[in-house]
Amino acid sequence: MPDKQKNDPKTAEIVISGGGLTGLMMAITLAHTPYDVTLIDRSSGIDRSSGSDPASANSAEEAASIPRDRRTTTIHAAGAKMLDCLGVWSYLADKAAPIWHMHVAEGAATATTNKHSQAKSDFNLHWSHDDAPMGYVVENNHLFAALKKRLTSTNVRYIQDETISSLSISGQKAHMTCASGRAISCDLLIACDGANSPLRKLAGLKTRAASHRQSAIVAVLKSERPHGNSAFQRFLVGGPIALMPMPNNLLSLVWTLPTHEADAHMAMDNSQFDSACNAAFGYDLGRLTVDGDRLLWPLAPALSLSPTSDNIVLAGDAFHAIHPLAGQGYNLALGDAAVLADCLAQAHQRGLTAGHPSVLRDYAAGRNVEVLAMSAVTTALNNLFFNMPRSVRRLSGIGMSLVNASPLKRTLSHIAAGGKLNKASLMQGKLPH
Ligand SMILES: Cc1cc2nc3c(=O)[nH]c(=O)nc-3n(C[C@H](O)[C@H](O)[C@H](O)COP(=O)(O)OP(=O)(O)OC[C@H]3O[C@@H](n4cnc5c(N)ncnc54)[C@H](O)[C@@H]3O)c2cc1C
Repeated sequence: MPDKQKNDPKTAEIVISGGGLTGLMMAITLAHTPYDVTLIDRSSGIDRSSGSDPASANSAEEAASIPRDRRTTTIHAAGAKMLDCLGVWSYLADKAAPIWHMHVAEGAATATTNKHSQAKSDFNLHWSHDDAPMGYVVENNHLFAALKKRLTSTNVRYIQDETISSLSISGQKAHMTCASGRAISCDLLIACDGANSPLRKLAGLKTRAASHRQSAIVAVLKSERPHGNSAFQRFLVGGPIALMPMPNNLLSLVWTLPTHEADAHMAMDNSQFDSACNAAFGYDLGRLTVDGDRLLWPLAPALSLSPTSDNIVLAGDAFHAIHPLAGQGYNLALGDAAVLADCLAQAHQRGLTAGHPSVLRDYAAGRNVEVLAMSAVTTALNNLFFNMPRSVRRLSGIGMSLVNASPLKRTLSHIAAGGKLNKASLMQGKLPH
């Protein structure tokens, strides 16, 4: 292929729109199929969704005032296996904190001061793995860096600072025009352009979205006592508070609150916020103190009613933006890429184009169970606790006692480790075939 055409292609077999965590990972995954892949992203650096990218600040003071995004992602065991198989994990392994134990509690903390911290813990639902970690926690910035590094050693064409602005389908191809005037046609267009996916709208694909009632405060905390590579989740009436282990005995906080309460907590100074964290979480880890900036993420879970349309598939948050309480959003995106890679490998063996209707059909069929199950579980868990007092749940006999029933507990643990509801090759640690 001539160099000029390679750098500025008019046609491609596969185009991926969106270079966030999903788009980058999708590009690396599909580079392992026989089809050629082009990745287009509107930003040149890390997208912060809030529009507050330090790279776009006008002055040093402005850049310094932008909170540093230290969001983390929990990658389940099967997802880590997949990233290892794709050659990404080697860049991440020494920056990831393994999760060996998980502790869950229901309702407000009973120990209200550090003096009571030696009292019996009210975390009453526990999982432990002895043989291998159930998952890993990585900072999103490290995950981005690892994906970008790996991408450079693939054949993927990476076009940055470009936005897809129009779309039409004809002659069994997707035709796109970009903001710069560039025109590209492809057999298969993969929308990895986030929860508000412009391509999903252009393709006329509908979503079922919840209203924005809650926001998540994200921060890094230090604790007085070591976390012991345990993950903690406490279900409170306003929303769950989760602490995930990070390297160097730090903890990643994701605290879901009703929107107005989240705003009030963001307005607190650090010492008020520390006290609020301890009051909500308790003293199982001793005194908690915030380390660095706090960020606010509005939550409005949304699920696409169908993940495909002619020559188009949706993946990542464009397909399913689920509640972060189970830390499964990106794991679902890994599942999307793993399934699509298998569908494409099989299509190629049959001499079909990447956009053949059978690819779209097999992808939709391969994603239905896991995506619907995860979306239903996170929505149900959030609704079960959100604004429903413990006494009411007790009366109706639901809550932790139900989950603690042994077979369900084991099943949940297997599902959380990944690879149970999704049998794609990469989820089992094998390249697509
Ligand atoms: C508070 C919080 C905590 C979370 N914790 C976890 C966790 O522990 N584990 C987990 O698995 N998941 C977690 N998630 C979910 C996870 O962060 C998301 O699923 C994931 O980041 C989604 O990535 P994405 O690439 O699909 O979307 P995005 O990050 O939104 O990226 C979209 C990309 O598309 C680009 N784009 C948009 N429009 C266009 C266009 N027209 N043309 C070209 N490019 C375009 C943007 O520039 C951007 O790069 C969490 C989410 C939240 C909010």
